[in-house]
Amino acid sequence: MCLFLVSMTSRRDTARLSLLTRLSVNVVFLQLLLSGPCRTKKTWPVSFSQEEIRKRLTPIQYHVTQERGTESAFRGEFTHHKDDGTYACVVCGASLFSSKTKFDSGSGWPSFFDLVKEESITLSDDFSYGMHRVETTCSQCGAHLGHLFDDGPKPTGKRYCINSASLAFQSKDTASSTSSSTATGEAASSSVSNGKTEF
Ligand SMILES: [Zn+2]
Repeated sequence: MCLFLVSMTSRRDTARLSLLTRLSVNVVFLQLLLSGPCRTKKTWPVSFSQEEIRKRLTPIQYHVTQERGTESAFRGEFTHHKDDGTYACVVCGASLFSSKTKFDSGSGWPSFFDLVKEESITLSDDFSYGMHRVETTCSQCGAHLGHLFDDGPKPTGKRYCINSASLAFQSKDTASSTSSSTATGEAASSSVSNGKTEF
């Protein structure tokens, strides 16, 4: 069904029918894609409305996690962050990395050599920008995090190169109170003190 509609859309495109007709075909196609058995977009255990996420996240957090963006190197608030604690997904709060596995890769992005839990991150091939990389995604909500490389330190040899904008830090001292707003506040003040508030 999907293939049929795709080819039908394509033929209509070449026939240069009115924009309205093409749009209506695409809408039908989209509806079938979202509701039908030929859905190709992966679904995640936790989902949020785009409206809610847009309100809650900063523009760079939204861009990175929802549009698979990349923050500028050395500009993220956690690149040189060294406090003890846990780095969680900024969108859903799932624990991803421990500060014990964070290291300075020199790349300009927060780097970790291991995960808190193997299943907390989903890996997939990313062929954007004419190269092959392994994309890392939050297994709970599907937020884009960064990429995984094989040039990390021992014992894993892995380098999880993660955008600061995808992360929320929970310091070890406040872990028991589970206050994400505190973690966010700390991150914000850290950002201000570094003069890196352009995001
Ligand atoms: Zn998440």
